[in-house]
Amino acid sequence: MQGFAFQRAADAAAAIALGAGAGTAQQGARVRFLAGGTTLIDLMKLGVETPETVVDINHLGLDGIGRAADGGLAIGATARNSDLAHHPIVLAEYPALSQAILAGASTQLRNAATTAGNLLQRTRCMYFRDPASACNKRAPGSGCPAIGGAHRMLAILGTSEHCIASNPSDMAVAMLMHDAVVHVQGVGGARQVPLDDFFLLPGDRPERENVLEPGDLITEVTLPPAEPGARSCYLKLRDRVSYEFALVSAAVSATMAEGRIVTARFALGGVGTKPWRIPAAEAILAGQAPDAALFRRAADLALAGARPQRQNGFKLELARRCLVHALTQVTA
Ligand code: SF4
Repeated sequence: MQGFAFQRAADAAAAIALGAGAGTAQQGARVRFLAGGTTLIDLMKLGVETPETVVDINHLGLDGIGRAADGGLAIGATARNSDLAHHPIVLAEYPALSQAILAGASTQLRNAATTAGNLLQRTRCMYFRDPASACNKRAPGSGCPAIGGAHRMLAILGTSEHCIASNPSDMAVAMLMHDAVVHVQGVGGARQVPLDDFFLLPGDRPERENVLEPGDLITEVTLPPAEPGARSCYLKLRDRVSYEFALVSAAVSATMAEGRIVTARFALGGVGTKPWRIPAAEAILAGQAPDAALFRRAADLALAGARPQRQNGFKLELARRCLVHALTQVTA
């Protein structure tokens, strides 16, 4: 591992000043914030991340979980994944979020990993994690060996000719389904970013994965109040039953009245370069009776524009079946 300076920020303002002082918030940054470290330290050991300074933000008091002002859920940036998954409000009102978190990683990792860190985790693309390989995300302009190479796990939606890396987060898929908002503090003050706008598509700049600017610090994530009577779940399909990333996943929620769907929402994981949500695909479900053919039509809409590669075309049908199964479950 390359040597680095270690600093502990006394408060958020100090952390932001340290972060803004040098480098960028993206790959190649000279300053990195450290919370759980379950991604950052791994990538530093691999030589993928080589910050000059690591700023510990674990003592900023950002680990709370509780009611938001609007009656929803407020999750501190450094709240541990395990604490969030087992929180009484989450279990009672946002079960898909709890299921998504518990479907990821291992108990030990979830005990250390944080909310903001989960959102900022990097792709598992094997070329990205190997500094000996070319990779446009790690070394812009060097090429993308995954296209034409090993890409079975990678994305079929939101890809570009420069990068097809899939977003690895389960938690973010459930948060997107719940209309999460990311709260950020930076040198220009505080702002709120809907989670769908937080992640960027790779386009011709795959090294940029989100809208954070130098010094930006995620302080919390909020979810609006859960819909009364909604049933939700998270279904994750993967090569083995635990400690594995999603091939495809679906976070779904629905409310029912008199045998018909009143509202439905869903997001897909494992298939996109970012967690994937298409509101137009959800809209066709409202007012309808639950039906597998209807759910397949919604899946087709959500997956429109998919561009599978040679090894990952199976994700299309797998994603359809995953979504149909999850929607059938919450509307039964
Ligand atoms: Fe790098 Fe993206 Fe290509 Fe993977 S898919 S090698 S992360 S540019």
